[in-house]
Amino acid sequence: MFARLNEPNGFEIDYGKLPKILCEDVANCLDEDVSLVRTMYFGTIPSARSGFSTGKQNAFYDFLERSCGYDTHIHEVDVGQGEARADEIWVKVALTSSLLFYAAQPGAYDLVVLVSDDPDYAPALRTARRLGKRVQVVGTRPAEEARGGPTLFQKARVCDFPPVYVDDHAAEARLVRERVMRVCKGCGREEETTWAGPDFFCSHCRGSYR
Ligand SMILES: [Zn+2]
Repeated sequence: MFARLNEPNGFEIDYGKLPKILCEDVANCLDEDVSLVRTMYFGTIPSARSGFSTGKQNAFYDFLERSCGYDTHIHEVDVGQGEARADEIWVKVALTSSLLFYAAQPGAYDLVVLVSDDPDYAPALRTARRLGKRVQVVGTRPAEEARGGPTLFQKARVCDFPPVYVDDHAAEARLVRERVMRVCKGCGREEETTWAGPDFFCSHCRGSYR
């Protein structure tokens, strides 16, 4: 969903900050304190058999889990096997299962923030609301040419709050990368970097690893 936001001027989302921003937004709507219990992320990765290089994707998922505290659910999919939509379907079914599983656990959550405006989530959100949960939906502002296209916001009885567009939080959610000197874990040399993850390897060591 962030692909469109990410494009201009190399915009990058601060995944560590985003859940807190969305939490604050919903707290302001309610005029109540909201505490963030869990951030779940559902994604897929091509299986080892498919021959795609998945290092970057793995590093990203690892970063979400270790540095941002997300609860990640990553599924391996066979790509190029005539299953182009397999990953999308997996994400939807896995997310929906968790959403309803936790909705049915007494006291697990009172409010869920879904970061997707896909209309396919409407039945699950209605069910969560029937279980007494409040729902917030976060989408992106529809592009001019796509206006009127189906999004979750056009569905009835899915949401308890006015729609939130992540575009409107772009300034706060923007990742500010600081350039710092870090010691390479491989060779011990220092190098300037914007990498904020737990382990740093210098350009030389990264090159020889590849
Ligand atoms: Zn090194």
